[in-house]
Amino acid sequence: MAEILDGRALAARIREEVRREVEAFTARHGTSPALAAILVGDDPASALYVRNKARAAGQVGIRSETFHLPAHTTQGELLELVDRLNGREDVHGILPQLPLPDHLDPEAVFDRLDPRKDVDGLSPYNVGRLSLGRPQLVPCTPLGVLELVRSTGVRLAGARAVVVGRSNLVGKPTALLLLAEHATVTLCHSRTRDLADHTRQADVLVVAVGRPRLVTADMVKPGAVVVDVGITRQDGRIVGDVDFEGVRRVAGWVSPVPGGVGPMTVAMLLRNTLEAARLQVQGGSR
Ligand code: NAP
Repeated sequence: MAEILDGRALAARIREEVRREVEAFTARHGTSPALAAILVGDDPASALYVRNKARAAGQVGIRSETFHLPAHTTQGELLELVDRLNGREDVHGILPQLPLPDHLDPEAVFDRLDPRKDVDGLSPYNVGRLSLGRPQLVPCTPLGVLELVRSTGVRLAGARAVVVGRSNLVGKPTALLLLAEHATVTLCHSRTRDLADHTRQADVLVVAVGRPRLVTADMVKPGAVVVDVGITRQDGRIVGDVDFEGVRRVAGWVSPVPGGVGPMTVAMLLRNTLEAARLQVQGGSR
């Protein structure tokens, strides 16, 4: 039976580390790191994520403010808020909660963000740095995935890693992080032929699609590390992309949903906010 990759426990340890570092930062600079979350519209799941992030920030000594804009906010109004937050010295991290309502273009928001405040690592500058192998602020979920994989102690150099899903938010940056660890990386997506043929070769398998039970036991190499990023609401429950009960009989490690990648994403946001604050007080690049 696979070991369970307990994201809650690992995230709690990381949050405690961040809390201590935030305390030291605040003592040294006379100001605590601060996060501004932007929430547009009335999506209850997004509102819940933002509340959880704000609470987690408060618990480690990071100040947070939430800017809740109405669903009919225009692109111009949203960009004005981004400009205002870019200009505020007492705000170190800016987090536009995705997804935005359909009439708003998230790319334009990330184009406008000060890259040193881009705590979700999605601005072209930070994406470019990650792909050049010189990461600065890296997307939170992929960082959380990497920490979970590292916690197994499995050697990544030379390992075969397969990432299913190629979004800018999760799949692509996860593949780049694994590549930077010297894994041999395959990136699969909806047009991939014979997905199982790829996944069965994976020493490390990361699934970020959003389709319950896409990955079943017969698609997993015995002993593999399996990280399930997927989140789908089904019959009032949250489920991942991996058939957990089946896969845990084959894999060496598997992350549960909930309690795997989700808490790690929040912990990485806190770490990134501290990192952003450091970049700004040190006058980091850009
Ligand atoms: P996304 O933008 O919808 O991307 C999904 C990816 O899956 C796409 O690249 C798509 O391929 C690929 N795909 C779709 N059907 C497939 C199939 N049958 N076989 C192989 N690949 C397939 O989603 P996302 O933003 O990356 O998020 C992925 C999942 O992770 C979602 O469930 C989301 O809720 C969850 N998530 C969780 C966290 C967390 O903190 N735990 C954070 C972010 C996202 P194409 O590119 O070809 O369309």
